[in-house]
Amino acid sequence: MSELQDAWADLLRRRPSFGPSLAVYGEILDGWARWSPPRSLALAPAPEAWRASWERGTPLVAEAARVLRAADLEDLVGAAMEALAGVESGLAPALQAFAAAWDSGAVGPAVLLPARGRIGAAPGDAAGLGADALAFVAGASLRPALEALFAPAREHFMESDWSLGICPFCGGPPGFIDVVEDGRRRLACHLCGGAWPFAKLRCPFCGVDGAAHLVRLTPEEAREEGYLVSACRECRAYIKEVDRRARWNAGPALVEDWGSPHFDLIAHRQGYWRPIPSIVQIAAR
Ligand SMILES: [Zn+2]
Ligand SMILES: [Zn+2]
Repeated sequence: MSELQDAWADLLRRRPSFGPSLAVYGEILDGWARWSPPRSLALAPAPEAWRASWERGTPLVAEAARVLRAADLEDLVGAAMEALAGVESGLAPALQAFAAAWDSGAVGPAVLLPARGRIGAAPGDAAGLGADALAFVAGASLRPALEALFAPAREHFMESDWSLGICPFCGGPPGFIDVVEDGRRRLACHLCGGAWPFAKLRCPFCGVDGAAHLVRLTPEEAREEGYLVSACRECRAYIKEVDRRARWNAGPALVEDWGSPHFDLIAHRQGYWRPIPSIVQIAAR
């Protein structure tokens, strides 16, 4: 059992009523655990180039686009699409069209990788699959491959070199916030497993600074010590966070995010959005 599978099982023990509606995430984690790369994906060592890139404020996503081939991701993407179709059967025709485009080589890894301001291809470039579904497939497929790819670069990352709201490795949007021992915030990337520190009172999505622009959603009906939804009045994006000083038993960021759909529903109802939608939002359409 992988570490994430283990943590997921633990989360479902804490929140058993979520089990049925979140079964798809268990399937995704099982798929990741079964996967092994068809070839070595690790980036060739280039610490100076990586550091120079970070100093310019540029993530390493171009490296990923250069290295990854469709065949590398085929099993992961296939499993992610199958999982999504199982939850939202209305997406089946679009997913079939996407699969056909993938098989023919018309689309490949580049349509799933983050680009400035979005995940995946520009609208119209992804064989008819909508932006939310595409972002979900990216979130459900890329991580094991990108983790292997960026592994050599992790140890060279200097936290002082990076203050942006996107992942320094894959360029993806943050998926979750961890508040750590001294109250500092760390953003977590679900697409590659990256993590980096970030200013406390800044929106990671639009960069606006100051408490006046941010709103904390902690509605009575879902109050849980240590958990909250942090949303931005300006760009209307939201992200969930856990304060690990209050929640010593919290799991990895990905597991905490996937395992708290009740907070997504609250944010969604109030008109906030997130870059990678929760499965409950996709299924609610
Ligand atoms: Zn990342
Ligand atoms: Zn914002």
